[in-house]
Amino acid sequence: MKWNKVASPKNKGGLGIQDLWKLNISLLCKWWWKLEASQGIWQTIVRNKYVKDKCIAQLSSKPTNSPVWNDLLKVKDLYLSRRIKCVGNVRDTDFWNDPWCGIISLKHKFPDLFSICNESVGSVAFYASKGWNLTFRRWLDERQQESLRKLRDMLSACALSNNNDYPKWLGEKNSQFSVKSQYNFLCVYLTEDRNKKLWKAKLPLKIKVFMWLVKLNAILTRDNLSRKGWQGDKMCSFCSSPESTEHLFFSCVISRYCWSLVSVVVKADCRPGSFSQFWMWANKFMPSHKKFHMIGLAAICWAIWLTRNAISFERKKCRSPT
Ligand SMILES: [Zn+2]
Repeated sequence: MKWNKVASPKNKGGLGIQDLWKLNISLLCKWWWKLEASQGIWQTIVRNKYVKDKCIAQLSSKPTNSPVWNDLLKVKDLYLSRRIKCVGNVRDTDFWNDPWCGIISLKHKFPDLFSICNESVGSVAFYASKGWNLTFRRWLDERQQESLRKLRDMLSACALSNNNDYPKWLGEKNSQFSVKSQYNFLCVYLTEDRNKKLWKAKLPLKIKVFMWLVKLNAILTRDNLSRKGWQGDKMCSFCSSPESTEHLFFSCVISRYCWSLVSVVVKADCRPGSFSQFWMWANKFMPSHKKFHMIGLAAICWAIWLTRNAISFERKKCRSPT
């Protein structure tokens, strides 16, 4: 029998032997739940050392962090994709990134507004204190004005209180995190071996090798180069954020623009924000075109990589979409 089959849960036709890799990810996700849902010495230390006044959605990996904390950050997006925030005083809920007004984050529900909003970082409390007043880098067209009206309606219907915000887990009926529910979720989404998908895809070999390196976070992005002792500029070629694999292909203004265009074409109401989100997103919005998922992902990553190299090495000018 294939290992994937043996390690599948019994109700999915397997032998139910636990896959330690998935179990480890589920246990790491539990730490995020503990940080958000309970108090203790560990939570106090982590909040003072790493979280400070930021919302969890804004935290990112840094070479100076402890390896354990960076490991936790690797599963953060996976954790966040299945938890929503119930708002009270909205101090530690991120306005754009946390799903707090419904189960989709405002960033993914209103990508056209988020991409041109001047206030792209902050807690819900910060935005509420400004009377939900948003300013934009350019005039809104008719479609964006309609989006803004919808957003204002949603915000005015939100009832804030003096209680602390608390998380709700989408994987359990009682809204409390459980390792089992996260493990079962991973069994559904991660059973297929992505590498097998990659090597079987109808792609030129050099692009397959490139995507393999992307998956292992081994391409020569500026953060990876500086880890090897390189002294050059660590900033992205397209914007002024530090360059990393995840930034380049998902969070950068250029990649967000590409994914927004793709989302419009496939009629998705949100765009993927990371590699793990991409597979969930593709399964949700293109369930009958599975064999094109890997090709699509590779095509976009490869195009971004070539453009980035052209700017870095040939100093070609880039016109930002915003
Ligand atoms: Zn960038």
